Amino acid sequence: MTNPSIACCLTFDFDGMCGWYGGEPVSNPSVLSRGEFAAVAVPRILDLLARHGVEASFAVPGHTALAFPDLVRRIRDGGHELVHHGWAHENPAAFDLAGERRILEQGIAALRQVAGVEVKGYRSPAWDLSPHTLGLLAEYGFLYDSSCMGGDYDPYYLRRGDRWSASEPYRFGSLTELVELPVHWSLDDWPHFEFSFGSTEGLRDPRAVEAAWAAEFDHARANHPDGFFMLTFHPEVIGRGARLALLERLIRHLAAGGARFQSMRRTVEDWRRRHPLAAWAKAHPERAGQGAIEDWPG
Ligand SMILES: [Zn+2]
Repeated sequence: MTNPSIACCLTFDFDGMCGWYGGEPVSNPSVLSRGEFAAVAVPRILDLLARHGVEASFAVPGHTALAFPDLVRRIRDGGHELVHHGWAHENPAAFDLAGERRILEQGIAALRQVAGVEVKGYRSPAWDLSPHTLGLLAEYGFLYDSSCMGGDYDPYYLRRGDRWSASEPYRFGSLTELVELPVHWSLDDWPHFEFSFGSTEGLRDPRAVEAAWAAEFDHARANHPDGFFMLTFHPEVIGRGARLALLERLIRHLAAGGARFQSMRRTVEDWRRRHPLAAWAKAHPERAGQGAIEDWPG
């Protein structure tokens, strides 16, 4: 029996130093050095991906793209996708509409300036969205978001305009053409490995995490052959020592299991062709709310 094939997105959030000061001011150079290590790790990861013929996606804040332009061009030249990841790794929900528009434009401009690319994918630095985010993404021609958790191994179309309060029934908004590639903390290297004071949760045995991720992939492949499998990495987390070895073993396991390694953008474009919005809305009434579908730019 041949293995069924499944789209597989390895995604790397190259936050750099601004991952540490984009939210709150930081004056400690040692703290920033934790982000700077990402610049050491990115070439190792690019070499590993090239050895295995893996196309991946790198989410890069504009601020980091300007700090490490050569690395960002190496990512592009390696055939990987560049994804919007904020300007200086801010939480978009902390801004009003004008402020969020400004940081979105700054992120777009930086990746255009450094790498000459027009980004089509968005990953919120905080995995938080504001009530304005989807409208802005539509206005600026984005195809997809990858920040929400309303699914596991199947993409879905996002709704806009939901209304909620504890005193009224939940009101669903309308479906948009924007596709979500859902993320999850369990499939992110940060909570498994990154240390923070007051918690020892983040220093797990790479073999244990590898086993958990391999089991998730096996489940996705067996049960969601039309879906996708995605992991979120941070170069400074996965790109050191035994964790890099974990990544290589995992790539081998996924490849042996029929993974088609491809960027988020390619995964979204393939999925949309197979699942046009109107037909998908009929097949997923639990997502469609009142059945309204928005006119959508593009
Ligand atoms: Zn990030």
